[in-house]
Amino acid sequence: MKQTPMAEPRIQTSTAASTGLHVCPACGSDLVQPISWSPAALSSWQVDLRCPDCEWSGRAIAPQDEVDDYDVALDEGARLLNQALVTATTPAFDTELHRLLSRAGRPQGESRLPSQRR
Ligand SMILES: [Zn+2]
Repeated sequence: MKQTPMAEPRIQTSTAASTGLHVCPACGSDLVQPISWSPAALSSWQVDLRCPDCEWSGRAIAPQDEVDDYDVALDEGARLLNQALVTATTPAFDTELHRLLSRAGRPQGESRLPSQRR
């Protein structure tokens, strides 16, 4: 049986003209996540990356300013994800809270938790 060698991570040497580390070179998704990063030579970073959409993985050597831009993109992605989570769960939580309070016989105006009252 012939064994196939494990795929080596692709080396993607980034430049300022690239689309950014958050963009997948295989499918174009803008959800590429860092797996790990470590300092490299000359004010640059070696970043292992993974795309959750197509399972592409690779390694980039990127200068500090591109890594800073990536960090900003990751923070913005986390903010949008958190916002979507709050948007998706708040109505369901409110509905469930009102249902439980009405079952407990409390009027809906009393639906705020004691710690939320001012
Ligand atoms: Zn991809």
